[in-house]
Amino acid sequence: MPTQWYNLRADMKELPDPMLNPGTLQPIRTEELYPIFCEELARQETDGKTAYFDIPEPILDIYKMYRPSPLCRAYHLERYLGTPAKIYFKYEGNNTSGSHKLNSAVAQAYYAKKQGLTGLTTETGAGQWGTALAEACAYFGMDLTVFMVKASFEQKPYRKAVMKTFGANVIASPSGTTKVGAAILAENPDTTGSLGCAISEAIEKAVTTPGCRYVLGSVLNQVLLHQSVIGLESYKAMEILGEYPDTIIGCAGGGSNLGGLIAPFMRDRILGKANPHFIAVEPASCPSMTRGRYAYDFCDTGKVTPLARMYTLGSGFIPSPNHAGGLRYHGMSPIISKLYHDGYLDEARSVEQTKVFDAATLFAKLETILPAPESAHAIRVAIDEALRCRETGEAKTILFGLTGTGYFDMAAYTAYQEKTMTDYIPTDGDLKPGFDSLPKIPGIQE
Ligand SMILES: *Cc1c(COP(=O)(O)O)cnc(C)c1O
Repeated sequence: MPTQWYNLRADMKELPDPMLNPGTLQPIRTEELYPIFCEELARQETDGKTAYFDIPEPILDIYKMYRPSPLCRAYHLERYLGTPAKIYFKYEGNNTSGSHKLNSAVAQAYYAKKQGLTGLTTETGAGQWGTALAEACAYFGMDLTVFMVKASFEQKPYRKAVMKTFGANVIASPSGTTKVGAAILAENPDTTGSLGCAISEAIEKAVTTPGCRYVLGSVLNQVLLHQSVIGLESYKAMEILGEYPDTIIGCAGGGSNLGGLIAPFMRDRILGKANPHFIAVEPASCPSMTRGRYAYDFCDTGKVTPLARMYTLGSGFIPSPNHAGGLRYHGMSPIISKLYHDGYLDEARSVEQTKVFDAATLFAKLETILPAPESAHAIRVAIDEALRCRETGEAKTILFGLTGTGYFDMAAYTAYQEKTMTDYIPTDGDLKPGFDSLPKIPGIQE
């Protein structure tokens, strides 16, 4: 197991563009982030130079309970597909929260505790991030309030129950507990909520509660840093097996699992030591890389975070309610965006959800893991690549990230089985309001 996180920015030929303060439109200084993030995390966020960060002992103690996570070879899938390719996957579903998100949740809860803070707030849509953070806060004895989009709160009662088991206070958003929530409810009492509204409530609660901070589970540089454990372990395991991947595939919502998985392999690519092919996979319904703009935008729908330059559909873009909630995000990590823009990350592909569930179902039958809908995006493309190898006869080594389990997504599996699932692809007209919501920055972005 690695004892340090790897910061890919230290080896990038060009760094991502700096985050801007949305008020002054000047590059943000580390100290300006202290009201939002605890100090150590603010330093990690803005440090493009330090290649390795020691993982503090208390975090390692928790990682050891579920890491290293298994690197598996999908023998049965290979045989079924009749492919000469070898298919490996790194499985991050082996903890109660059921996804890779725990890797960063543990780090964020630890640094907050160390700084003497007493509570955290966050929002959750699909519920994975809220669950991971609840688990992490339980270990460190931190209070946690999770604003859960009301639609999910009602559709996923067991997710809520898991968070409560870990001691989190879970509130359906919009709620009457914040001013912003109460105002939204007064205007529209029957609303089922949105991620943007949940974020606004979580931020209001954090800034009005002493010793409390708001935390985010993806997109940020610090989150990619923590997720580098996925890639470092995969790299080591491949080394022990005498393997090196030709193709590396990850699903991309905010880009944190993908950024973590590819980090050490991308280092090789940048340093000219190896040349693996990198593929990011996103839903056709929320195509931030394949159809988005590379522009400065807010990281949140509530427009309170710093501005980051990234592939984005605009913070005003409201994705259709597809079944991969963890991939319904308007933007993409600035690190992943820069690598894609500069051609280091070779490809982004968007896939339709019924094809994703074809892959998920096949994988469950053959490999005995019921994948999260998000993870199944990577499975889809791994299968497509393996089938291409069957055509060409190439015995490629494929590695993909299996980010989590789908046991709380059975409503989605049911919709797939009953053929009520649809493949919504936004038109250019549907994307326009999102692009129109991009901020105007004199001299940079008119
Ligand atoms: C949140 C989530 C994702 C997407 O988030 P990234 O930050 O893009 O990694 C993917 N898979 C699962 C299981 C998730 O919970």
